[in-house]
Amino acid sequence: MDTKYIFVTGGVVSSLGKGIIAASLACLLKARGFRVTIQKFDPYINVDPGTLNPYEHGECYVTADGQETDLDLGHYERFTNVHTSRANNVTTGRIYQSVIEKERRGDYLGKTVQIVPHITDEIKRRVKYLGTTGQYDFIITEIGGVVGDIESLPFLEAVRQLRWELGTDSLCVHLTYVPYIAAAKELKTKPTQHSVKSLQELGIQPDVLVLRTEKEIPADVRRKIALFCNVEPDCVVQSRDVNSIYKVPLKMHEQHLDEIVLRKTHTPAQTEPHMEPWMDFVHRLDSATETVTIGLVGKYVELQDAYKSISEALLHAATYADHKLNLVYIHSEKLTDENVGERLADMDGVIIAPGFGHRGIDGKFVALKWCREHDVPTFGICLGMQCMVIEFARNVLGLADAHSTEMNPLTPHNVIDLMEEQKNISNMGGTMRLGAYDCALRPGSKAAEAYGSTLVSERHRHRFEFNNDYRERFEAAGMQCVGENPAAKLVEVVEMPEKRWFIGTQYHPEYSSTVLAPSPIFRSFVNAAITYHNEKENK
Ligand code: GLN
Repeated sequence: MDTKYIFVTGGVVSSLGKGIIAASLACLLKARGFRVTIQKFDPYINVDPGTLNPYEHGECYVTADGQETDLDLGHYERFTNVHTSRANNVTTGRIYQSVIEKERRGDYLGKTVQIVPHITDEIKRRVKYLGTTGQYDFIITEIGGVVGDIESLPFLEAVRQLRWELGTDSLCVHLTYVPYIAAAKELKTKPTQHSVKSLQELGIQPDVLVLRTEKEIPADVRRKIALFCNVEPDCVVQSRDVNSIYKVPLKMHEQHLDEIVLRKTHTPAQTEPHMEPWMDFVHRLDSATETVTIGLVGKYVELQDAYKSISEALLHAATYADHKLNLVYIHSEKLTDENVGERLADMDGVIIAPGFGHRGIDGKFVALKWCREHDVPTFGICLGMQCMVIEFARNVLGLADAHSTEMNPLTPHNVIDLMEEQKNISNMGGTMRLGAYDCALRPGSKAAEAYGSTLVSERHRHRFEFNNDYRERFEAAGMQCVGENPAAKLVEVVEMPEKRWFIGTQYHPEYSSTVLAPSPIFRSFVNAAITYHNEKENK
């Protein structure tokens, strides 16, 4: 079959969950046996989100092939269990960068380079790129931002042209918001009508409307919206708030969103979607009665999107262990030796978060010392692993000034140091050690046991590493380097075998945890936390 292109746009307000709707549709199409990928086009000028801090844009997600991307790509992978790649996230910055490079090369000699057609042509080329690989039946393209934004105009113009070119091989799903005005006791459709009008003014007629709402939208209101917006009545679908994003695919299927998409793109439907494994997950989510409490020590606690992949990976692990997840965000800047006992007392397990820079790092050391001394299951991820190493060097090896050269370039004990290949790098964008690398695990280690394997591949995002000069001293004192990259001999995993569960990974296993393939090391950590919880209960 010809590749079908589905565009997902958003109106009225941002944060409606376009990414979740795109991912849910992909999940259903995948469960019907189609080959699906989702890509995100972001209207900002940064070439990628790697240089944005989480306050700007939430977590930076990393693909296996080493692209720093928008966090929606994390949802795409978690919902479809299919890897995304550097081609799946394109920004205005990247589009302009390639057009300007072409101009300098002389590709447009003699011509004035303009937004239409040069920028829009580059957008179209990138929208269609994954389709040219022959690997996909459906390419879902989410356009970041809200219709009406200045920044997204070239993207929407490209969508208009593509719809014209592709005909029924393309489709536009528009997500809007239907507010409930409590004083009037009414759901209001006007913002949706206006938002569709804005799209129509740009030459795009949406085929399907998905309405985000807190209350049930009655059929007559949906019919009214269909009438005003030139959309078939059954193509107005509501997306009511649910208590888990993982229920959204099931809610969309109940309203036949996947069938509508197949019908409108003239795609024969072979079967009903095979959603049983997904439904099993959702059933476990709903029926768990016991709770596991995990503390996440980090500096972005007021902003939960900063640790999205970690919280989702924990949820996957807890759900498969038939437990509810109680995730407690603990502000590392507020932890002191005086309050740590009280703050961490109820935790069944503690995660020390990844991060950059000095802020909040002392609280991570405080938490780690307490967890190590009280033998609480503890998981350090990236900077969290590096902090594990530093805390151990200071308080067990007696190297009082040990540090990472990221925080203190003059430390006499640089137990964490800049990687050799990073020493001559001056550009900040896209230059870290990024993406999936192999890690060989020591047979018999807890980490190897967790994975059920001695060779794994996980994703990275760092510049600093464990300093191998100190390796023997760590191992002799009880912190083992049980994972290393076979080619570079870079330490990937440290663990303290005599503890219940005390493991740090230089890599980020959270990026590869999906609903249908939860991360083995997160599962092992959460299981250890549950065991510890039960031990405490039975004391
Ligand atoms: N700042 C550390 C480094 O660059 C850790 C990065 C991270 O936690 N992602 O090595």
